[in-house]
Amino acid sequence: MSDCIFCKIRDGQVPARAVHRDEQCMAIEDINPQAPTHLLVIPLEHIPTVNDLTVDHRALVGHLYLTAAKLARQRGIADNGYRLVMNTHRDAGQTVFHIHLHVLGGRPLEWPPG
Ligand code: 5GP
Ligand code: ZN
Repeated sequence: MSDCIFCKIRDGQVPARAVHRDEQCMAIEDINPQAPTHLLVIPLEHIPTVNDLTVDHRALVGHLYLTAAKLARQRGIADNGYRLVMNTHRDAGQTVFHIHLHVLGGRPLEWPPG
């Protein structure tokens, strides 16, 4: 996807503060953090929304969650708690149409979200 910002970050065409990369996903610091820790765990594969997931993506989705939990432990926020969010389409506020798991923590998070 040539016009996708996360594909461009994946391919090194746009810079980002990467904190993790493996054969299935990468994790970067969000450019506009909403909490002291705000990471994005992003599959290398371009998948526009959760609605586009298929059964073939089951292991990948699990891997995104396990990676998020590992990064939360590394950041020292695992025990206090954190939030994992994957926004889908307009009403949820999705702005980048390449799925990504937000990892938010480091402060108490309001619930329900605004
Ligand atoms: P969404 O609104 O789609 O759930 O989340 C998109 C997230 O990507 C936002 O939190 C936004 O700050 C972040 N973002 C958008 N463009 C960039 C970018 O170029 N670099 C980084 N690091 N984050 C970005
Ligand atoms: Zn993409």
